[in-house]
Amino acid sequence: MQKNDIVEVTIEDMGMDGEGIGKADGYTLFIKDAVIGDVVEAKIMKAKKNYGYARLMRIVSPSKYRIKPRCLYARKCGGCQIQEMSYERQLVFKENKVRGNLLRIGEVPEELLDRVMEPIIGMDVPFEYRNKGQFPVGSDKEGNLVAGFYAGRTHSIIPNTNCVLGVPINKEILECILAFMQEYQISAYDEGRHVGLVRHILIRYGLRTREIMVCLIVNGDSLPHSKELAQRLSKIQGMTSITININKERTNVIMGPHMKSVWGQNYISDYIGHVKYQISPLSFYQVNPVQTEKLYGLALQYAGLTGQETVWDMYCGIGTISLFLAQKAKMVYGVEIVPQAVEDAKNNARINEISNVEFYTGKAEEILPEYYKRYENEHTGEKAHADVIVVDPPRKGCSETLLRTMADMEPERIVYVSCDSATLARDVKYLRQEGYEVERVRAVDMFPQTVSLESIVLLSKLKSNKLIRIMF
Ligand code: SAH
Repeated sequence: MQKNDIVEVTIEDMGMDGEGIGKADGYTLFIKDAVIGDVVEAKIMKAKKNYGYARLMRIVSPSKYRIKPRCLYARKCGGCQIQEMSYERQLVFKENKVRGNLLRIGEVPEELLDRVMEPIIGMDVPFEYRNKGQFPVGSDKEGNLVAGFYAGRTHSIIPNTNCVLGVPINKEILECILAFMQEYQISAYDEGRHVGLVRHILIRYGLRTREIMVCLIVNGDSLPHSKELAQRLSKIQGMTSITININKERTNVIMGPHMKSVWGQNYISDYIGHVKYQISPLSFYQVNPVQTEKLYGLALQYAGLTGQETVWDMYCGIGTISLFLAQKAKMVYGVEIVPQAVEDAKNNARINEISNVEFYTGKAEEILPEYYKRYENEHTGEKAHADVIVVDPPRKGCSETLLRTMADMEPERIVYVSCDSATLARDVKYLRQEGYEVERVRAVDMFPQTVSLESIVLLSKLKSNKLIRIMF
């Protein structure tokens, strides 16, 4: 097989990025946008020794899982990868991904997985779920202002004010801002030349409160005629906060560190369960509130709290899980690396009048081991105590130093929330070697139409562990 060959392929599997995988004369091909079950004609774009990448040219016979995507740009846009596959099949794909990783990387025995794995939690309506959108602004070839999304793997903007994953109000807001920019001759940022003013538009929506936040990210110190813009935007029902964010750097990072208020408050509020959260433009907040509530509900269930427990919540962000757990625990300690997030966490504890939480700023893999050591020095013979440890790390998973300390602290239960099931599986393997066993596993689909997902695992301490340690 070589470049530019055209071959017919039956798609038999799916890769981690949602691409179709099939064989032509025994040669494995990865084909983006091909759905499992499709027979396709594909053109080889890159041929390696044992496998290659091909472009989908024509669907010879469509899979029974193939559906017409809702969005016109589903194939081009970098946001969705599997919108052309039925939602039921997407869920099977995701569940298999978690299962496969736990089996292969985690080396969890198959009989055990069959017993402990619960069915994936999908969405009833797998669209319009995102409470946050960050839309790049630019100019098209004719010089018209556009806002939309980056095409896959590039920074060329596909104009689209009506993403089917976002809330419908985005369209009205984006069109209002583009019309304002046109009228007042306000330029869009040109990434290549590092000139022009408006880089991105951030919109956040509180699903329960219906409050709206708009933030314009600008390559400058101010936005001309911002009062006129505020006057227009504030007419939209629910508008609560209008700000600008200053980002004059030549960088891919969307937001800069400095904010300026334009109209209304600098934050919006929303609820997950009974807990209220204040969200500012710079704070991290889960993007799918409907599924987040289900995920945190599971975390609470898995933690098995009775009101007597000391809980550590590692990688706590703005304290979302910590505050959820604090409702049922004696004491919760949260650890987070971003100082602003810790400030938000403390503030969220205050507005909910939750006093049995404490937050530490720093690296999880430093704070917990230091605490553990200090405790040992100060209280001779007595160990630092945790009944339950919850972790919700970024994609790279937990560092081994942290896992080591967790195992040393011997909590009854470890609840692992993960956005990358491969690193989850790696860490599960470590904890199983340290005397923990997998009791429950569940995937939660936080990101329908994309290949991302969250999963949650409950590990319990094996009763014999302590005995063995004392004996040796
Ligand atoms: N549990 C939170 C946030 C999870 S996202 C929630 O559900 O909302 C992961 C968090 O880990 C981010 O807030 C990130 O800033 C933080 N983080 C990344 N590396 C870290 C480290 N080494 N130590 C502590 N926190 C870290």
